[in-house]
Amino acid sequence: MSTDCIFCKIVTNAVPAKKIYEDDDVIAFHDIRPLARIHFLIVPKQHIETLKECQPAHQALLGKMLLLAAKLAEEQGLVGYKTQINVGREGGQEVFHLHLHVFGGGPVA
Ligand code: 5GP
Ligand code: ZN
Repeated sequence: MSTDCIFCKIVTNAVPAKKIYEDDDVIAFHDIRPLARIHFLIVPKQHIETLKECQPAHQALLGKMLLLAAKLAEEQGLVGYKTQINVGREGGQEVFHLHLHVFGGGPVA
C-alpha cells in the first residue's frame, strides 16, 4: 500500500471506481478516460510499481491477471480486444502501480 497512489486508494475504496471484479489478489474496474467503448484495468492489490519490478514470485499473479483479462473481456461482451501494459514513463505509464489494460468494442461513443 502506497499512500499517494491512486490505484491503492481504489483498492481500499478511499477513491470510488466502477469495479467489475474483485478477489483477494486483484481488482478490475473501468478506466476513467476510456480509449474504447469498453476499457478496463486489471490491478493487483499489492503495490508493485511496474512490470520491471516483477520477480519469479509474481509469476502466478501475472498469469492470473492475463487469464482474468480473457474472462472479463468475454463477460463484457468483447469478441476481440487488445491488452496492454505500459512500462515506465518512456513506455507511456502514468500510474506507477502495475496494471493491465483491456480494451475493445470500437471507438468511444
Ligand atoms: P497508464 O498510462 O499508467 O498505463 O494508464 C493509467 C490509466 O489509468 C489511464 O488510462 C487513466 O485513464 C487511468 N486512470 C487514472 N486515474 C484513474 C482513476 O482515478 N480512476 C480510474 N478508473 N482510472 C484512472
Ligand atoms: Zn499503489
